[in-house]
Amino acid sequence: MEYAALVDIYEHLEATASTNEKTAVLADCFDAASESQLPILATLIRGKLFPAWDSRELGVSSSLTREAIRKATGVDDDRVEEWWREYGDLGDAAALAVEHRTQQTLFSETLTVESVHETLTDLAEYIGEGSQSRRVDAVAKLLTSADPDEARYVVRTVVGAMRLGIGEGTVRDAIAVAFLDGSDEAIAVVERAHQLTNDFRVVAETARDEGVEGLRALDVELFRPLKVMLAQKAEGVGDALTEVQGDADAADETDATDIADDTETGQNAVRCEYKYDGLRTQIHKRGDEVRIFTRRLEDVTEQFPEVVSAVRERITAERCILEGETVGYSPETGRPVPFQELSQRIKRENRIEELVESVPVVTHLFDALYVDGESLLDESLRVRVGRLGDCVDTDPNDSDDSDVLRPATAVAPADESEAREFYEDALSSGHEGIMVKNLDATYQPGSRVGYMLKVKPLMEPLDLVVVGAKWSEGRKSEFLGRLHLACRVEESGELRDIGWLFSGLTDEQLAEITHRLEPLVTERDGREVRVRPEVVVEAEYEEIQQSTESESGYALRFPRFAGFRDDLSFDEVDSLSKVERLYAEQ
Ligand code: ATP
Repeated sequence: MEYAALVDIYEHLEATASTNEKTAVLADCFDAASESQLPILATLIRGKLFPAWDSRELGVSSSLTREAIRKATGVDDDRVEEWWREYGDLGDAAALAVEHRTQQTLFSETLTVESVHETLTDLAEYIGEGSQSRRVDAVAKLLTSADPDEARYVVRTVVGAMRLGIGEGTVRDAIAVAFLDGSDEAIAVVERAHQLTNDFRVVAETARDEGVEGLRALDVELFRPLKVMLAQKAEGVGDALTEVQGDADAADETDATDIADDTETGQNAVRCEYKYDGLRTQIHKRGDEVRIFTRRLEDVTEQFPEVVSAVRERITAERCILEGETVGYSPETGRPVPFQELSQRIKRENRIEELVESVPVVTHLFDALYVDGESLLDESLRVRVGRLGDCVDTDPNDSDDSDVLRPATAVAPADESEAREFYEDALSSGHEGIMVKNLDATYQPGSRVGYMLKVKPLMEPLDLVVVGAKWSEGRKSEFLGRLHLACRVEESGELRDIGWLFSGLTDEQLAEITHRLEPLVTERDGREVRVRPEVVVEAEYEEIQQSTESESGYALRFPRFAGFRDDLSFDEVDSLSKVERLYAEQ
């Protein structure tokens, strides 16, 4: 298939805002694909070369891409940068550069989908000395053969911003339309297959070759991480107990303050566990082979060597997939450290040995998804927790603090007051709150279901002033969507920045904030601006963290836009001393 034909499809997808039309275009594309093209198109259509769980990266930054554009076209980098700034998209800049090429093309060949895919896939294999220039050369070679439109999409694929408005849901629906009957049921089957495999190549091929039955038969596989089950938020312990039991049996009219027994077994139907503030950890083990994945499916095995050895020593199952939360503990106080300290483990691979000493971790295990050939997803949590207990060689009464693997602290509370007491214990031990889980529930990969509710103290929102902003990337690149926020020093009235916020804004709010900020711009630097401090916003967040990167010394974890505070002027925004107080209290 010529790459130009795929470019036509990309253009069609980009030109329509209708999700139905995008689905139909994609479905036709999948339907027409040859046997070997389908797995390529299933990922390349969203500009991806690898499935989500595959940690390989192309390793081509935007500056290397610019070098490749210059090499292939002879167009000066300043000009390319100017176009990039003007259009907000390096793909468009590449198309213009090809159009204005100043050098003759010596080795031009017709690009095919297969050749582009192969060249780009190979980029991930270049390692070591000279690998950067090999990558530049490979991309430049593609651009040498590309017409402007082809160049646009090659570059967008390389930098990972396709701007087609195609999410996983559209690909899922298109597979259901192309190879099944397109019904809601078919879509649900494709969805589950994808949550399990995280691989549209496998899902598309299975749908084509084996239909619904084949998709249903797909199961967990070792070393292919699956999406984790997510929790819903409850307003408090009582609310969590009501909701989790409501889900256990919607028809059951039991008073929620009493915890219902499971009608068949007479056992308690609710389990509460400490909610740890760490890294969701999915452990895959086959003999001595161990890999650790995060909920974003990243492979972090190298970063947690002590967890790997503990798994080898303490997990008795030959093959298994277990889940837990990995938490950093302070060696001095024995209390959990804030998440950002643990996250150094993920960022700085070269200091791992040092960090193993300074931020020791414990993985608190709470679920078993697969044990020795048997998938447990359709089993109840009660069964799964039982299997977990069977395959971990851990004495729950063992108080040896050096244990890296421990079961999550849990109770099956008899009533609400016992659950509340457990919640208080969790907080006073320095944990975030509790998880309230339905013991009769199956595991739903990737879904946010009421089988698992999180209860934690709510943080008071902060009123902060916008002091700078960045243009968003991708589909929303014409908006100033990343807001640099500041609080105020009470005594002097000076503003001190407290990090960036970029979620919670609707498209209308993005347009409005851009409209409000543009006249306030005082300085520009690339795609970033500084603005006069006039726009005050309310920010919700999950936690305040210490930060060396901001003037205030703090940053908000998961800040979300909660509205404009037009009733406040910039000298009325929340003070640094309030931030300090909230930090100390949390
Ligand atoms: P979410 O994970 O629900 O999208 P989030 O990223 O804001 O939200 P939290 O609100 O902190 O996360 O709560 C959910 C997370 O809590 C889980 O993804 C998991 O990593 C973590 N967690 C901690 N303790 C447990 C536990 N005992 N059982 C399940 N998850 C737990």
